[in-house]
Amino acid sequence: MELFKNTAHQLKALLEQGTIKASDITASLKQRIQTVDARVKAYVRFDRTDFEPAASASSPAPLAGIPITIKDNICTEGIPTECCSRILEGFRPPYDATVIRKLKEAGARILPVKANMDEFAFGSSTENSYFGATHNPWDLQCVPGGSSGGSAACVAADEAIVALGSDTGGSIRQPAALCGVVGLKPTYGRVSRYGLIAFASSLDQIGPISKDVRDNALLLNTIAGHDPMDATSVDMPVPDYTGALAKDVKNLKIGIPKEFFVEGMDTQVKTSVLEAIKTLKDLGAQTREISLPHTDFSVPVYYILATAEASSNLARFDGVQYGFRATSAKLIDMYKKTRGEGFGEEAKRRILLGTFALSHGYYDAYYLRALKVRTLIKQDFDRAFADCDCIITPTAPTPAFKIGEKAENPLQMYLSDVYTISANLAGIPAISVPCGFAGGLPVGLQIMARPFAEETLFRVAYTYEQSTDWHTRKPAL
Ligand code: GLN
Repeated sequence: MELFKNTAHQLKALLEQGTIKASDITASLKQRIQTVDARVKAYVRFDRTDFEPAASASSPAPLAGIPITIKDNICTEGIPTECCSRILEGFRPPYDATVIRKLKEAGARILPVKANMDEFAFGSSTENSYFGATHNPWDLQCVPGGSSGGSAACVAADEAIVALGSDTGGSIRQPAALCGVVGLKPTYGRVSRYGLIAFASSLDQIGPISKDVRDNALLLNTIAGHDPMDATSVDMPVPDYTGALAKDVKNLKIGIPKEFFVEGMDTQVKTSVLEAIKTLKDLGAQTREISLPHTDFSVPVYYILATAEASSNLARFDGVQYGFRATSAKLIDMYKKTRGEGFGEEAKRRILLGTFALSHGYYDAYYLRALKVRTLIKQDFDRAFADCDCIITPTAPTPAFKIGEKAENPLQMYLSDVYTISANLAGIPAISVPCGFAGGLPVGLQIMARPFAEETLFRVAYTYEQSTDWHTRKPAL
């Protein structure tokens, strides 16, 4: 049986019927990884990992026996967590991130191999990994998107059942779109960041990447909720997200921001998204044009704030406490050599940009001003949501691009996130679901909602998914 093809909820049903054992799933996944990962390269350190099939678990826990793939920046006790950076080489966290603890309590099995990513989640293509690039399962010459490219590619390639990624400016949704799977960035504060190695603390969120909307809701049920270990996590009840999966968008008000449908967007992407909006309209939703006037500022504001926070978060990596250490007779030289040899090019670029934006004399002109514009962006959304229940846009302006195509042009690369970044700046939840193909490559539809309205996202995404068959298409590998 090709169990690796299944979703978590399908496997759950098979396990409950007693048709299969948990160890059958892990054995099937291991075999799939052995067969295709040499081409996709979604996992890191597979050759060095003891990948034992899980002992059979038969418990009523919500995720009993379901294997979960984890991005390399989420701490897993005893399992290497290196953010795909040389500077964290050999780091095995002595504790589990809160999301991992919760998954284990729900009976899930954390895979001992981790998913590839851009170093420290800096990127939109998973080319900035110390372990080399991940390839898009739909076209191995193309990128899977980033920075959670390993997580998205392994779900798309059936090398994983479900995965966790992290999203600071689009890193769950953009790779989900480019790989034809479902990716959710929850509301800021919905999921604990404890144990997520920080990139930009005011923007980072952990979220699920899955083959369908139901699995996504199933995973959020488990990982969401208040955590005293994360001061920014919010103490609000967690609804039953799978229970909210009704096929119903009647009278739902969808806002279409005019600023998002402009030049630079691939025409086939545009056609697919407009077609998806029409499908939702035919199902009873109402649409209206809205305006998010500060959209143009989201990319520059993000790259000031995210790099500023990153430069300060990365200050702790100096060869003393974690991972790689260069040898040098003098302490100060050891710091310099460790950081010089341990960080990749993009990490260094961001440390330089961020340190500059925070430096005396420039702080007011850059960092403080960017914070003020962030507030304006947030207010745009507040106004828009007074008049609509959700906002629909493309997830990314183009389908997957060729490996190497944007590697020499960081600005071009930064623009891959034009549609995803504002949700992080505003702290709102957003999901990407497959909505078509452009030149044989998947296209993603982004749905955004009010803070803590993940149920609305799931309802719209589920209704759309149930009316189309994009999520059932698989790449030929
Ligand atoms: N691509 C964006 C960046 O490079 C977002 C990354 C992310 O969400 N982690 O910063």
